[in-house]
Amino acid sequence: MGSQQREEVGLEEAISRCVRCGRCRAVCPTFDLIQREWAVARGRVALTKALEKGDVPPSRRLEEHLSTCLLCMACEEVCTNETPVVDIVEAARAVLAKAKGVSLPGRCLKRILEDKTLAHRLVSVGILTRPLWGRKVEEYRGIALRIPLLKELGLMPPVEVPYSREAPVEQGTGNRGTVALFLGCLLEYVYPSIAEATVAILSGMGYRVIIPEGQGCCGHPHLAMGDKGGAERLKERNTRVLESSGAHLVVTACATCTAHLKRHYRLSIPVKDVAELLLEVGPGGFRYKLAERATYHQPCHLGRGQGIKGVPSFLRALLGSSFVEMAEFERCCGFGGSAAWIYPQVSLGVGKVKARHISQTGCGVVLTDCPACILQINRCLAMEGIRSKALHIVEAIDFRLREVENNSKETTG
Ligand code: SF4
Ligand code: SF4
Repeated sequence: MGSQQREEVGLEEAISRCVRCGRCRAVCPTFDLIQREWAVARGRVALTKALEKGDVPPSRRLEEHLSTCLLCMACEEVCTNETPVVDIVEAARAVLAKAKGVSLPGRCLKRILEDKTLAHRLVSVGILTRPLWGRKVEEYRGIALRIPLLKELGLMPPVEVPYSREAPVEQGTGNRGTVALFLGCLLEYVYPSIAEATVAILSGMGYRVIIPEGQGCCGHPHLAMGDKGGAERLKERNTRVLESSGAHLVVTACATCTAHLKRHYRLSIPVKDVAELLLEVGPGGFRYKLAERATYHQPCHLGRGQGIKGVPSFLRALLGSSFVEMAEFERCCGFGGSAAWIYPQVSLGVGKVKARHISQTGCGVVLTDCPACILQINRCLAMEGIRSKALHIVEAIDFRLREVENNSKETTG
């Protein structure tokens, strides 16, 4: 059940769909790690039911059981009863947030993501003071903390000068139409290089690309932390900005943002993930520009969240023998939003399996389509001492169809 096609049902009906068959135990990455009933969809649905009926009180332990769900949808994909596990877990988190409040790190994160001026100021201070608290690990594109007690959190995001602060508001002169690039938080503050590469590909394809001013976080982190109000405020603001931009298409290079926009926004203009555009053009339109062999990790929010599963075939055709398929390439990387730092043992434990699968391919590069997966995979690879790196697909390819068309015109002309 992809998030786009999801039919909305009430919580009671949603919970009643779980017949406790246990099929989800075979695919749940947190159950695989923890091996306890509370760590699988069946257990989390039962806990939500008990919480709803008042049979268990809201507690920190219950919060941990529900907050360590990575919202990866692997359970939903195998559930023959179409139990909307992600909706159920999000609803339970909202009840807990109302009863007990969101944790302090969660509150800080939500506040920063909602206030762009504050986020820009904090990023500037963070960059200026970085030598005091962290060391940039170039190879893995992350920050190793100098604070001993926090080292178990793994690498921190490699915070950069916000992309929108320096990028031209309009790029590309093509006549194929105007695309509004929705950056989301990670392209804006952590991986501006992915935003640049996306703009280069889109302009190469003949689009005029604009970066609408005033856009912000998509609201997914808020919803995942049980804050429907915050998610709604961000949706309204982004909707206003995107719909008044004059674009005929909204594109993102973050599978989580795209899945969230497609499912929760009701935009009057279509939304596409950049991966969809690559698949529409086909492998013949691009050139792989790296020398290293590459494997692929399928983000949960691309494959299961949007039903886009054609990227491995695309890469196989484009890279030929330089492409190596990874075992369980669709298995969650373990990021899970705020779980990555609030419950690092679970997040890194799940990520370790991904790192092992990458290492088994012998590839120097793992390509994917979600900056959150890139962040998580790079921190897990670093933790395991594996010398591969995760990149976004758009950073590894050039658009070449125009070149091919021009060459064939010259030959025939
Ligand atoms: S969530 Fe679905 S797969 Fe898991 S126990 Fe319930 S009915 Fe079975
Ligand atoms: S969404 Fe993922 S982590 Fe959560 S219960 Fe389902 S399979 Fe497990």
